Amino acid sequence: MLRAPLLAAARSRRMRKLVEVVPATRSVVSRFVAGSKTPDAARVVRELADDGLRVTLDHLGEDTTDAEQAATTVRAYEELLSALAADGLAFGADVSVKLSAVGQFLPADGEKVALENARKICAAAEAVGATVTLDMEDHTTTDSTLGILRELRTEYPWVGAVLQAYLRRTEQDCRELASEGSRVRLCKGAYAEPEEVAFQDKSEVDKSYVRCLKILMQGKGYPMVASHDPRMIAIAEKLAMDADRKADDHEFQMLYGIRPEEQRRIAGDGKTMRVYVPYGDEWYGYFMRRLAERPANLAFFLRGLATR
Ligand code: FAD
Repeated sequence: MLRAPLLAAARSRRMRKLVEVVPATRSVVSRFVAGSKTPDAARVVRELADDGLRVTLDHLGEDTTDAEQAATTVRAYEELLSALAADGLAFGADVSVKLSAVGQFLPADGEKVALENARKICAAAEAVGATVTLDMEDHTTTDSTLGILRELRTEYPWVGAVLQAYLRRTEQDCRELASEGSRVRLCKGAYAEPEEVAFQDKSEVDKSYVRCLKILMQGKGYPMVASHDPRMIAIAEKLAMDADRKADDHEFQMLYGIRPEEQRRIAGDGKTMRVYVPYGDEWYGYFMRRLAERPANLAFFLRGLATR
């Protein structure tokens, strides 16, 4: 019931101003966000690596219409990748990139700028043995993001992308992307989407997730199972076994701060577990989507405010 208003608030500049000035917000946000600067992110990567967990890092930010801001985001990824390399943490790491943060929505030549900027991040990643995965934003960006993915993969075949099981189109997208060398991160989907394009019932989304998982696990690509849902994880484990997949040809992924014990359990079982670690100052949209996913998080946030 609260999901729709929270997701609407995630896009509201007015709400953002209100939430950001509340002093207690920071301490709640720190449960989901690694910190604001590159060294904060590197420290968390080290801690997770010590526990046998891999990472994908997201420099927070989205929906920019400012070319300079997009260029700043590219520099932030370049700085992060060299800091990780200097600490011996870059090899096997991944960075997650929102194309709307690197120019996709610029009024002039947005897609072209986003492609060029994403290329620069891919070059920086390749130089240190890391990979890049394109996050998926709302459904109006899906075709554009998959088009840019295709372009990037001609030069960097290891670039991956997220697909969202709540979209009706995603089964077909999975079929098209379940090919040799193709890295697909399957999630349920975090945005408010209209009925015409997306399943609205949780059970419909879950069924779609399983159908998509089957296609990816039976395909020739590299499936990345991005979910905290115990049922989806159990089904993925069974499908991986049926398809004779080993720990190095698929992986599980969860968000930083969500079900951390389960993350360690999966890694402890000898499976590949990667944690999505967001960092940076632009945490508002990301944080609101996490509140929308789980009412208990909102209650935790409100209790934090009440005790100040
Ligand atoms: P749910 O059915 O939502 O949750 C299952 C259980 O997980 C819950 O019962 C609860 O125990 C736990 N849980 C779930 N969410 C939370 C939370 N916020 N706080 C605490 N516990 C929680 N979405 C996009 O639209 N685009 C992306 O690019 C994208 N990238 C992602 C990358 C990764 C690695 C992951 C893990 C998720 C990503 N998402 C993305 C978010 C995703 O779409 C879902 O919104 C989110 O993962 C919740 O769905 P779920 O599969 O965990 O299942």
